[in-house]
Amino acid sequence: MEKAMAAQNIDGKIIAAQIKEKLQAEIAALKAAGTTPHLATILIGSNAGAKVYAESQAKTSQSIGIEHSLVVMADSISQKDLEKKIVELNNDSAICGIMLSMPLPKGFDAGAMQNLIAPAKDVEGVGAANMGAVMQGDFSLAPCTAAAAHACIHSQKLVPVKGAEIVIVGRSAIVGKPLAMMLIWDHATVTMCHTATKDMIAHCKKADILIAAAGKANLVTADYVKPGAIVIDVGINKVNVTGADGQTKSKTVGDVNYESAASVASMITPVPGGVGPVTVAMLLKNTVEAAKKNKKV
Ligand code: NAD
Repeated sequence: MEKAMAAQNIDGKIIAAQIKEKLQAEIAALKAAGTTPHLATILIGSNAGAKVYAESQAKTSQSIGIEHSLVVMADSISQKDLEKKIVELNNDSAICGIMLSMPLPKGFDAGAMQNLIAPAKDVEGVGAANMGAVMQGDFSLAPCTAAAAHACIHSQKLVPVKGAEIVIVGRSAIVGKPLAMMLIWDHATVTMCHTATKDMIAHCKKADILIAAAGKANLVTADYVKPGAIVIDVGINKVNVTGADGQTKSKTVGDVNYESAASVASMITPVPGGVGPVTVAMLLKNTVEAAKKNKKV
């Protein structure tokens, strides 16, 4: 039997704090030059979860000197109304970044709305222009979650990415695909796994760095992990767990079964406290980058 190792945690809260500290200095310099980074979040309807998330974004932005405006629109608006609002914000010189809270009302074309955001204000990096820029090796407004997973990997200075075998489980447009592209630019050999992949374990077991971004709670167990591999867990899933007291509670877990994978891996991002806090920091970083792009500082 293999001897169980205890993987070292890659602490996303520390990485996020370091990013924010650097940003504070950049924001101070921008303000001294007459530019205040200002993020606008469009929130449609009364989805409680989206509202809590947007409000927490406002707080975090303001805590490092970024101004934040929450643009609340009624559930009953049409796509035309949203288009008008996006164009208005695109033309508002005080706003440098625009975020569109998901989900949009039924029938709205989310991709078209994201593409309508001016590329230099697309701080989530989800529009075609910024996705294309990632293909060209420009990560300045890369999708926040992909950029966060990328930053978690690069936070470990001793981890060689050049030449590494990297496997990503999940090929979504905002995580798996752009992250694969970023890692190819880093000279890694990248394999993408998805729902049609045959024998996923065989692929994953080859990975020096294994990234889970499938949205499936506890999908990746020790069986998927090569001994000594680095495991990056992007997933955020809510599951119900019943405690010793018989009470059922909701718990946040990743796509990786932490205890199982950590017994084989050398390093791992926990959930919560791994990629999640870094994603928030990346949104702020993109907002500061957008402020520079908009003002050509
Ligand atoms: P998505 O549903 O758009 O994409 C999931 C991808 O995983 C798809 O490509 C699908 O083919 C693949 N997949 C699904 N089940 C699979 C399986 N059993 N085997 C192999 N592949 C499978 O999801 P997303 O938006 O990319 O999000 C992925 C996860 O990341 C979710 O848990 C989400 O909550 C989380 N997320 C985290 C952050 C963060 O800040 N950490 C940000 C965004 C999303």
